[in-house]
Amino acid sequence: MSENPDATTAECCTPATEAIDAGAECCAGTDDASAGTDDNVTTVARADGSPIEHADPSLPVVVVGAGPVGLAAAAHLTERGIGFVVLESGEHPAAAVRQWGHVRLFSPWRFTMDGAAARLLTYAGWVRPDDDKLPTGAQLAEDYLQPLADLPAIKPHVRYGARVVAITRLGLDRVRTAGRDTTPFLVRLANGEDILAAAVIDASGTWGTPNVLGAAGIPAHGESDISAYVESALPDVLGRDRDRFAGRRTLVVGAGHSAANTLLALTDLAAQEPGTTVTWAIRATDPTRAYGGGEADALPARGALGTRLRAHVDNGTITLLTGFGIQRLSPAGTSVEVSDGHRTVTADRVVSATGFRPDHAMVSELRLDLDPTLGSTRRLAPLIDPNEHSCGTVPPHGVDELTHPEPGFYAVGVKSYGRAPTFLLATGYEQARSVVAALAGDWTAARDVQLDLPETGVCTSNPVEGDDTIAAGGSCCGTPAAEPEPAGRGQATGISGGPLSAPLTLVTIGGNAQDNQAGGCCS
Ligand SMILES: Cc1cc2nc3c(=O)[nH]c(=O)nc-3n(C[C@H](O)[C@H](O)[C@H](O)COP(=O)(O)OP(=O)(O)OC[C@H]3O[C@@H](n4cnc5c(N)ncnc54)[C@H](O)[C@@H]3O)c2cc1C
Repeated sequence: MSENPDATTAECCTPATEAIDAGAECCAGTDDASAGTDDNVTTVARADGSPIEHADPSLPVVVVGAGPVGLAAAAHLTERGIGFVVLESGEHPAAAVRQWGHVRLFSPWRFTMDGAAARLLTYAGWVRPDDDKLPTGAQLAEDYLQPLADLPAIKPHVRYGARVVAITRLGLDRVRTAGRDTTPFLVRLANGEDILAAAVIDASGTWGTPNVLGAAGIPAHGESDISAYVESALPDVLGRDRDRFAGRRTLVVGAGHSAANTLLALTDLAAQEPGTTVTWAIRATDPTRAYGGGEADALPARGALGTRLRAHVDNGTITLLTGFGIQRLSPAGTSVEVSDGHRTVTADRVVSATGFRPDHAMVSELRLDLDPTLGSTRRLAPLIDPNEHSCGTVPPHGVDELTHPEPGFYAVGVKSYGRAPTFLLATGYEQARSVVAALAGDWTAARDVQLDLPETGVCTSNPVEGDDTIAAGGSCCGTPAAEPEPAGRGQATGISGGPLSAPLTLVTIGGNAQDNQAGGCCS
């Protein structure tokens, strides 16, 4: 990091092509004391642009998470010649994305790749995917993120199996002010190892911390006892997880597009596998918001998904329970009883599609200025508020909106949005570019935030099953990939179940605030 980026880049490795040639010897070398330094002083910039002198010029920037945005940050750090270490809890890059690898993104390739990353890859001879095609999560991981993480300039600086459990300042708790700005960050791993850092970019996402089933934001009574029956969001119902759903009674909980995707996959399964039943529970008393606006929806993909969903509810393939705020879950033989205090549903599997929340615990010793509602920074919150925005209408933003009182610490990517389900990769890449420019002291670039998202082709593509072109699209959180069935997907085995033990009725109770539960893009 340098107060004067020109000084750094002249000695080191921009443009990007030189960065790749130089690889670990020049850029991203965490043991290269000269990398990213100016006059032998490493600096971290304050929000007002003034540099903060740092005692140890050899310390790297630590990036937490090798997902799309963490690796984008690594690419920008590489281009700017700043030493870094990426700490990834999984055994591969894109560990979270691979979990939903069967889902096709709604954004075409052009909006799912970072600029610096694409430059570095292209120089290394990578063949760029067709900009207009829609990747699946698996393709995003294999065709873009894995090659990016494997670049010689990046690979030596990514550590897998490295779970960060806490981030603080060396020797200082959150209360202590004196010397804070010049004290290194201390990043603790699950294995007890401590790593010192000049700055920290937290791109650890939210996939690992789903919301609970309980309607009040805390676990429902008994929720911890029935975890064996609960599936996290977006199981591969028609693929690897098929056996757990075929011929069984599944309750899907949640009103967002993850729920919609799973529900539609389950209806396909129900058509193929006798005994498969689908129940959908939402807190809202009216499903209109979950359906979107149908043909009139400003987001055609969301509208199309909602229209299909509505048709399945209308024809009875999906049994909808409205106003169903889960209070209690109890094991009942090989199934689980789910109650809202008035009604009880018996299911073999419960899919929790209730959205995600950021894990702030690991940064609780840092000075954060969090929005009380969303858990993003306060300045970012009004720009991403799901009550006001869909993912397509979030304005570009960068370091200024991401700055906390703790100098040198930034959360980027989907974690930066807290509980708002309006995140798009393109905005995350711009965050990473802006933050790294600020760490380099290049405030002109840091504040020149731009985002070129056309109105169509990001959230607004039109889903066509079996097509992976931009016209195909999907919901805001993608549609299940309509790929040919791979060999090996056969009849479900070990099927048990049958009709729900208690018949479900569609109950609508009086309107309340639950109707306003967030929808957004990707919850
Ligand atoms: C089904 C689905 C479809 C989506 N489709 C689109 C789309 O079409 N277009 C779009 O723009 N966006 C889409 N999104 C939203 C968003 O782009 C993705 O969620 C994206 O993966 C977010 O990237 P990230 O790098 O911020 O976080 P993640 O991809 O979640 O990466 C975080 C990484 O950090 C690691 N990690 C977590 N905790 C720790 C820790 N404590 N220590 C070390 N490592 C840790 C994880 O293993 C993971 O590799 C979609 C999201 C989902 C769920």
